[in-house]
Amino acid sequence: MAPGMNQTGEANSNTQQAFIRQLQQTFASLPNEIPLFLFVQKGRDDVYVDACRQVVRAFRELTDKIKIKEYYLDHEMARKWKVDSSPTLLIDPERYNIRWMGAPMGEEGRSFLEAMLLVGMGKSDLSDQSLQVIRRLDAPRTIKIFVSPTCPYCPQQAVNGLKAAIERPDMIALEIIDIQCRPDLAEQYEAHSVPQAYANDVLIGQGAQQEEVFLSSLLKLEPQTIFIPESTAKVVDVDVVIVGGGPAGLTAGIYTVRSGLKTAVVEREALGGQVALTPVVENYPGFAQVGGKTLVDIMVSHALQYVQIFQGEEVLDIKPGDIMEVTTTRRTFRTKTILLATGATHRHLGVPGEQRFSGRGVSYCATCDGPLFKGRKVIMVGGGNSAVTEALYLKHMGVQVTLVHRRDKLRAQDVLANQLPQNDIPVIWNTEVKAIDGKERVERVTLFNSQTGETTEMDVDGVFVAIGYQPAVALAQKIGIELNEDGYIRHDAFHRTNVHGIYSAGDVEGGYKQIVTATGQGAAAAMTIFEDIINPYWKQNKAS
Ligand SMILES: Cc1cc2nc3c(=O)[nH]c(=O)nc-3n(C[C@H](O)[C@H](O)[C@H](O)COP(=O)(O)OP(=O)(O)OC[C@H]3O[C@@H](n4cnc5c(N)ncnc54)[C@H](O)[C@@H]3O)c2cc1C
Repeated sequence: MAPGMNQTGEANSNTQQAFIRQLQQTFASLPNEIPLFLFVQKGRDDVYVDACRQVVRAFRELTDKIKIKEYYLDHEMARKWKVDSSPTLLIDPERYNIRWMGAPMGEEGRSFLEAMLLVGMGKSDLSDQSLQVIRRLDAPRTIKIFVSPTCPYCPQQAVNGLKAAIERPDMIALEIIDIQCRPDLAEQYEAHSVPQAYANDVLIGQGAQQEEVFLSSLLKLEPQTIFIPESTAKVVDVDVVIVGGGPAGLTAGIYTVRSGLKTAVVEREALGGQVALTPVVENYPGFAQVGGKTLVDIMVSHALQYVQIFQGEEVLDIKPGDIMEVTTTRRTFRTKTILLATGATHRHLGVPGEQRFSGRGVSYCATCDGPLFKGRKVIMVGGGNSAVTEALYLKHMGVQVTLVHRRDKLRAQDVLANQLPQNDIPVIWNTEVKAIDGKERVERVTLFNSQTGETTEMDVDGVFVAIGYQPAVALAQKIGIELNEDGYIRHDAFHRTNVHGIYSAGDVEGGYKQIVTATGQGAAAAMTIFEDIINPYWKQNKAS
């Protein structure tokens, strides 16, 4: 092993030790005990039971505030709390109605940690806006949130449910359901993508919602898409607002704060942007091979050493000017400058059935939804790096995947493309998906071969789509930022847009669209912002 690798290993281990010490201190400061009741089937210690025991014991080692009791399903305590599936974890059942069906592994470890901390604090930690919404709830709600351990979006939705259940134990019962452990329930609720949230058996949210949007959906018993703040939100004064917590935004945040600028990073979904969805990254310098989520965790912990991140908030509007107003779902920022690092979102096929079956067999995230298709037959549509990486990921998960590509050659790099035959992944060439069909969920696709002119049908359980990304420019367009002919934000060599004080960085600018280029552009834009705040170029232009 190279000397540098040893140092990296030591640095990681030191960071891990520091993190554990910090967690121990946080748990020690909690006012409440955290009783956990684990229910298991006698004589059936499957992987989920083992994992569940391991996770709760690992947390127990951090603090004696956690009190664990384990019962069999035929015990009177199981009857008392109406528990009939193994493993089920009840969290402080004398105070709250929170049950975890499955093991809080992988990404769900984050939600479980949050659950421990909130229960230990005895507070929901909901925002003021959310509290206003949930206080209006006057009828019981049973929430079911379907999650998977590989889904980076799931913790956000699970934590929304946890906060609600802690704030209103008089009205709210919460079940967090791992779809791998309880495929029967996922099937019954037709939860073919995660996260999915139901309240009183009504679908209230597909994908991760912002806290306020989740609570409005819970209150109204129907999915809401936006949340309009009900009263004047708090006002925060900063020098820079960075819209987007992907690689570009996080890097820019490190740079602006290190230059002495008061900065807020605002992120509406999962931190890390597209990287959070990437199974493996092999081309980010310093890491020969790293999981996308691991890379995000490293970037976020680094950024948090400097910059304040407002996660789960969407920037809804911007009023340009010398001092600009940025309105989010929770507050207003007053700021001198704004960096738009809003990245890109996945493209749709635009064929009949795609929208109808979204979350019912049509998926745009293999890392999130892959586990639901283990042993099943799916197609992956696309021919670029993402499509090939995700097809390989699905194959390794035990999914029967076929790549469907509209040309006779892949756009993916050779190093990836060569792995398709090595992994027995068939490719259907020169073929487009024309329609997606089924009754309740995807059952078949209609394929059109552009070489032969032939139309065929193929039975499949799922359709994964990775046909590229489109820039997230809705906000930019709303405030008059010019776009280039390809629809990306037009900017100069210093990342300035046509509106003074507003800058861009990362995928939203077009170009190479890589993690390393996004971080580079974030850094460069941050340095321009610093120079412009000291010496505004628009004022120089006015004077001359
Ligand atoms: C499956 C997949 C695999 C990939 N593999 C690789 C790889 O191996 N190597 C590589 O270099 N690159 C890879 N990429 C590309 C890489 O992830 C992107 O280039 C990079 O993430 C771009 O960073 P960004 O910060 O510009 O944007 P993004 O990562 O898209 O982040 C933008 C963020 O802004 C947020 N946002 C948008 N609008 C708002 C708003 N109004 N309010 C608040 N927040 C907002 C979004 O929620 C998002 O989190 C991959 C991408 C995908 C999808």
